[in-house]
Amino acid sequence: MTRKTHIAGNWKMHLTKRRASALARAVAGHHDRAEHRECTVFPAFVHLEHVRRNLRDTGVRLGAQNCFGKKEGAFTGEVSPYMLRDMGVEVVLVGHSERRHVFGEGDAMIADKVKIALRAKLDVMLCVGETIEEREAGRTFEVLARQLRALKVVKEAQIDRVSLAYEPVWAIGTGLTASPAQAQEAHAECRRRVAGILGAGAAAGMSILYGGSAKPANAAELLAQPDVDGLLVGGASLSIDDFGPILDAAPRA
Ligand code: PEP
Repeated sequence: MTRKTHIAGNWKMHLTKRRASALARAVAGHHDRAEHRECTVFPAFVHLEHVRRNLRDTGVRLGAQNCFGKKEGAFTGEVSPYMLRDMGVEVVLVGHSERRHVFGEGDAMIADKVKIALRAKLDVMLCVGETIEEREAGRTFEVLARQLRALKVVKEAQIDRVSLAYEPVWAIGTGLTASPAQAQEAHAECRRRVAGILGAGAAAGMSILYGGSAKPANAAELLAQPDVDGLLVGGASLSIDDFGPILDAAPRA
């Protein structure tokens, strides 16, 4: 089974609408629309419409950084996945480590988000990853297994709309990157767990991106790992001078 190489940029709470639009145009100009490549950007909610206009017909996908786990209701300040879908969003990040650790989102809430986002016909990129304390205590695989249980809500017909991002918390925004061997080990374990939950076919076909201080200098060696199917890039996605070479690092064939 051949998986696409997926390079994604998480713009977090950065940029103005003008700079987000300009960056979207720059990413689109750099994206190679080859069959085996995929590129997604995740701007802030308030920039989605501006970015959407700049990505029209470019092949770069529009993503949202979060959503709520309900269709609608009295949830002040939240955004429904149905609203995102309605405005042209195609993919949503769920369970990013900043949502888990800064905003206290737990596994049950994350599973609800996966379920409702898929029901709203969005693709879902589920983020998982251990803290440094968990890694040093030898609990990485146990944490990944717990977080991946959110996949139990995925129905067979929805499997091809789900991808994973392995993002060790200790590598996000810190400048520390998992070594290619550490990334490969964790990705292989994620794939093994996906097989246990959704079956071997789902595991073989599911894209697993690595995230955590990915940059031009380490992109190619991370992407060379057999179970690393792409990169979810935070800081280095905010400038085309960094993100462009990361896009270029995706294998050509
Ligand atoms: C992220 O926010 O998903 C991320 C990986 O950030 P950074 O690349 O800045 O570590």
